[in-house]
Amino acid sequence: MSSLRTQRRSWKCYLCGTDIVEGQRFTFTSRGPIHWECFRVEVAKAFNNRIPEDGEFLLELIDYFNEGIVKIKEGEYRMTPSLPQGGRVNLGGLGCFPLFGG
Ligand SMILES: [Zn+2]
Repeated sequence: MSSLRTQRRSWKCYLCGTDIVEGQRFTFTSRGPIHWECFRVEVAKAFNNRIPEDGEFLLELIDYFNEGIVKIKEGEYRMTPSLPQGGRVNLGGLGCFPLFGG
């Protein structure tokens, strides 16, 4: 049972300086981890607070992928007991996804 993780990892957002915990939406940039909401603020700033439509669409796309990652991470906690060590989530036709940090 030693492989069963009980502690969630956390990071510090480089923009607001507060903790990011697993389950929260966030992303990584070349500067490090950042909350999704903080990232949007930063992107808006780069565009003088007016994100063009194609930029907005790109953000939505990234957001969509991030949600998927959060879902997969959630599965790590909900499914780990039934997985072999270093387990992978088998999503049938979608393929196998490694569970990070296992
Ligand atoms: Zn932040």
